[in-house]
Amino acid sequence: MKKVILTGDRPTGKLHLGHYVGSLLNRVLLQDTYTQFVMIADVQALTDNFEHPQKIIENVYEVARDYLSVGLDPQKTTFFIQSQIPEITELTLYYLNLVTLGRLERNPTVKTEIHQKKYEDSIPAGFFCYPVNQAADITIFKADLVPVGQDQVPMIEQTNEIVRKFNRIYDTTCLKEAKVLLGDTSRLVGIDGKSKASKSLGNALFLSDTPEEIKHKVFAMFTDPMHIRLSDPGHVEGNVVFTYLDAFYKDKEELAALKAHYERGGLGDTTLKNLLNETLQNLLAPFREKRESFQTKDLKEILFSGTTQARKVAQETMREVREAIGLNYF
Ligand code: ATP
Ligand code: MG
Repeated sequence: MKKVILTGDRPTGKLHLGHYVGSLLNRVLLQDTYTQFVMIADVQALTDNFEHPQKIIENVYEVARDYLSVGLDPQKTTFFIQSQIPEITELTLYYLNLVTLGRLERNPTVKTEIHQKKYEDSIPAGFFCYPVNQAADITIFKADLVPVGQDQVPMIEQTNEIVRKFNRIYDTTCLKEAKVLLGDTSRLVGIDGKSKASKSLGNALFLSDTPEEIKHKVFAMFTDPMHIRLSDPGHVEGNVVFTYLDAFYKDKEELAALKAHYERGGLGDTTLKNLLNETLQNLLAPFREKRESFQTKDLKEILFSGTTQARKVAQETMREVREAIGLNYF
């Protein structure tokens, strides 16, 4: 039996380079050897966008287009829409009994996001509890492996705590713990260098950006404010251009030489930005071309058939879960 992967993205915007190096690339590489489910997490996206459902719905198709553009293949990967599998919501409700408010408060990723969204004074309960919903996503598919970025590590830890508690309390083995698989770059920063690249923060380079947009963003990247004259020694640490070259430039030896030159002085930001721009344009051109080849009609068919297939798996796990609790009355 093949091992199972479950992962996904919130349809809050188009996917960006952080997604690519954090999770998408691993998914493309592993889709041949694993049974892979990829979820478009519209329910989770609504927890902090409930006033703008139209934005979420539109982005379901954008995210699906991004998946296909980077080489995820519907013949090998099952794509589904979270809201169309109500069993996940049901499982979330049972899991909520197993989690304390104190534990939810300690989740460092949620803490950061509450601060970024200025929710301190009134946190929507749905948003506060989204890691529990995520535990349901992962475990309903009995996932072995979850390819994600660094910000998701606390979610998987919390998921596994819930699994252990559920199996202990209801004396069952029906739920499975999952392992995290981090991408080579598990936290790509945004162009400002301050926080992780994120759809919601407007600091990301999107897979579908035009060549002009990519170039513009590369040239807006934070470098080293003390590196004024070409001859000045520069800092590599915290320099966003080098962070992106680390993630995307293949020739690591040449990159090490460029870093040494920059630190010595005599290497200009413009030269480096041109090199990064060229590297990213080469990566993104084929994705952009592939992206254009799919109609919304094709995407709908792929998502419908994937969701139908995924729901069967979720229904079977829910049958076991109800039986473990004793809710199998009839
Ligand atoms: P939002 O701002 O709406 O939360 P996001 O950009 O954080 O959007 P998500 O849909 O929350 O994207 O994340 C999807 C996946 O991509 C997760 O596995 C997450 O860890 C990974 N990911 C997101 N941003 C980055 C990043 N900057 N670097 C590496 N991985 C990332
Ligand atoms: Mg996020």
